[in-house]
Amino acid sequence: MSMREQYINAKLSWIAKNTKASIIRELLKSTTIPGMISFGGGVPDPNTFPRHEMARIAKEVIENEYKVSLQYGTTEGDEILKSEYIKLLEKHDGITGLTSENVVITTGSQQALDLIGRTFLDKDSICAICSPVYLGAASAFKVRDPKFITVPMEEDGPDMNLLQKKIDALTDDELQRLKFIYIVSNFDNPTGISLSLEKRKQLLDYAYSKDLIIIEDDPYGALRFEGEKIPTIYKLAQDDEKYEINPVLLLNTFSKVLSPGLRMGFTIGDPLMVRRLVMGKQAADLCSSSLTQRLTARYLEKYDPIIGMKPTLELYASKRDTMMKAFDDILTQIEGISWTYPHGGLFTWACLPKQYDTGEMLEIAKKNKIIYIPGEAFSVNEESREEVKNCMRISFCLPSHDEIIEGTKRLLKTINEYREMKGW
Ligand SMILES: *Cc1c(COP(=O)(O)O)cnc(C)c1O
Repeated sequence: MSMREQYINAKLSWIAKNTKASIIRELLKSTTIPGMISFGGGVPDPNTFPRHEMARIAKEVIENEYKVSLQYGTTEGDEILKSEYIKLLEKHDGITGLTSENVVITTGSQQALDLIGRTFLDKDSICAICSPVYLGAASAFKVRDPKFITVPMEEDGPDMNLLQKKIDALTDDELQRLKFIYIVSNFDNPTGISLSLEKRKQLLDYAYSKDLIIIEDDPYGALRFEGEKIPTIYKLAQDDEKYEINPVLLLNTFSKVLSPGLRMGFTIGDPLMVRRLVMGKQAADLCSSSLTQRLTARYLEKYDPIIGMKPTLELYASKRDTMMKAFDDILTQIEGISWTYPHGGLFTWACLPKQYDTGEMLEIAKKNKIIYIPGEAFSVNEESREEVKNCMRISFCLPSHDEIIEGTKRLLKTINEYREMKGW
């Protein structure tokens, strides 16, 4: 260790010492290697950003509304943006009756996840998550050092029997310390799976019976390619009179439908919970950017980003088709492989037989100029790593149709070379 490192490391907190750099960030560096095909990226295509409209509105917002847009704002968020957002939720998700107190605007959904960690989790707390889990949520919760209950994903959502079994087995004291269940309800990152209506109801019913909060993260709900929209768990709770309290915090973001650079996140929930998040946000950053909030508000007055997504969705859906066909044609040669068929979102999740380790296999993949995100990136501990280390997250949104086919061939080559190396 260098002098500099020693000097600084001696002062680090326990949590800083125990935080590892994200595998994904490291991996994304390899995407700049010439000829590399990346199935790794989970970011939208920049050509879909409405840059000309944004530029026009930004000019007006800066020149004419500078007293708001260049000034500090309230911690809760821009009132004009909130009211535009509430209208959008009513129109597309059928969520009615919301007022400003039900909404806090955050700096991306990632900040909401961080605030949820600060607000609900102590060192001895427990939270329930799916295995695999969205990495951003895992890292936001992990800084609080809670215990995790992990439940495998099935085709229509988490294994509810196992979830109930694990929670029912807790002592009264442990149950007190179990705070929430975190779930991505539509086109999950990384699995591409959506919860069926049945499972949404079952999860809500069960969580309510145990006095738990549900953190419903829904960045991909508007990215549906086909099939009918399923109501959010938040809406199910709101619409059913048997729930006297709505135990759901619904997290939305414009990162996947408009632009991640705006950092526009929206959390919807009971005013008392929202109030607590606002208090946490005060300490975190005083307020989200007044400039991008007002810019987004004025954009929403003129345009509907969800309707604006339609051409992009057609593009993503056609790439999904190309990938699914390529997998059917090429990857079925691998014994025991399976993958999910996503009806929206950006990802499919492919699993090899249990003995594979996709993290180890990645070295061969890079040599063959193909990358994916290894399953272990979506685990929180050794137990959950075991459950997902044979899997990989594969994204179809950025590579071209030709690259999807060529990339699938390289993936086949990689898997075969790995198996030969192992002598299986
Ligand atoms: C992309 C994503 C987010 C959004 O993050 P932002 O901070 O809003 O950009 C949240 N949750 C999941 C599951 C995601 O995939």
